Amino acid sequence: ATPAATMVGTALGAQNGVLFKGGDVLERVQSVDTVVFDKTGTLTTGEMTLTDVVALDRTAADGGERTDGSRGTSELRSDGGAVASGGGADAETTPAETRLLRAAASAERGSEHPLGEALVDGAAERGIDLTHPETFESVPGHGILASVDGHRVLVGNRALFDREGISVDAAESTIEDVASQGKTPVLVAIDGDFAGVLGVGDTVRETAKETVQELLDRGLGVRLLTGDNERTAAAVAAELDIPSGCVRADVRPEEKAEVIDSLRTPGTRVMMVGDGVNDAPALAAADVGVAVGSGTDVAIEAADVTLMRDDPSDVVKAINISEATLQKVK
Ligand code: ADP
Ligand code: MG
Repeated sequence: ATPAATMVGTALGAQNGVLFKGGDVLERVQSVDTVVFDKTGTLTTGEMTLTDVVALDRTAADGGERTDGSRGTSELRSDGGAVASGGGADAETTPAETRLLRAAASAERGSEHPLGEALVDGAAERGIDLTHPETFESVPGHGILASVDGHRVLVGNRALFDREGISVDAAESTIEDVASQGKTPVLVAIDGDFAGVLGVGDTVRETAKETVQELLDRGLGVRLLTGDNERTAAAVAAELDIPSGCVRADVRPEEKAEVIDSLRTPGTRVMMVGDGVNDAPALAAADVGVAVGSGTDVAIEAADVTLMRDDPSDVVKAINISEATLQKVK
């Protein structure tokens, strides 16, 4: 494009809350074939709320401690949705739930992960006092290892539990139930024993679905790339009509860029849209990296375009502006 066309496009973008970092970016945008979206904070608001507290109640079956040390008929106690409204007046928290949430949320106190913040807020809403963990280790893409009140607490995903050799068998149906609703199951263990599941929900952004539809209608590929688990990712993809073959879940932070690289076959230009520190390498690896404006500084620095309004449909706007600008010079 001519310098004049670039100026017009850049200015038009700025008026519309779409910041292009330079004229060559403006040109690359209209040649994109595939748009890859991060899930949390990009297609969803990233404002996470604790919605489910399901404690493994070891004493439910026989009303007391076992003397033989066996796990026996331990079973998951479901709250039947009573805790689902995020701290409503009728949300009764049982002692087992309180113990579970206090341990998990205390462990997450030093965490900057949105899931951790949701647990801390959820505990506060339920009037649960938290304590400072004596030790705290954050494992990127997995969760937290901490010591709380002298107990070893593990909070995170299945990969973390696999790594630590803790079975989640007792919770399979609860995990499935939470994830099939598009919520993230957060698993908790205390002193090496599986202790329960916390469900954390997020809201899909208002324009996410129409944006996916518009991109598909234009013949572009649309993909979802997330560190979240398979089942949750599939539920969100289904809600947004992202084809099921186009979802990559359980992607560790360091793998996101590799996935983008693998999509950049000759003749395929890839746009990556993301918000997190985790997304920064992928944003840099893409032909066009697009950061959500409320995202992390690292993501914005790595990106070529920033969406000031956090609105996924501004991806379409960016493409429109790019096309209009380039047509002017033809
Ligand atoms: P994303 O933000 O896309 O979900 P991450 O790579 O940050 O990706 O995390 C991947 C998964 O690891 C999360 O979905 C969650 O299951 C687990 N996880 C990571 N950090 C934490 C944490 N602080 N607390 C609980 N779970 C976590
Ligand atoms: Mg994100």
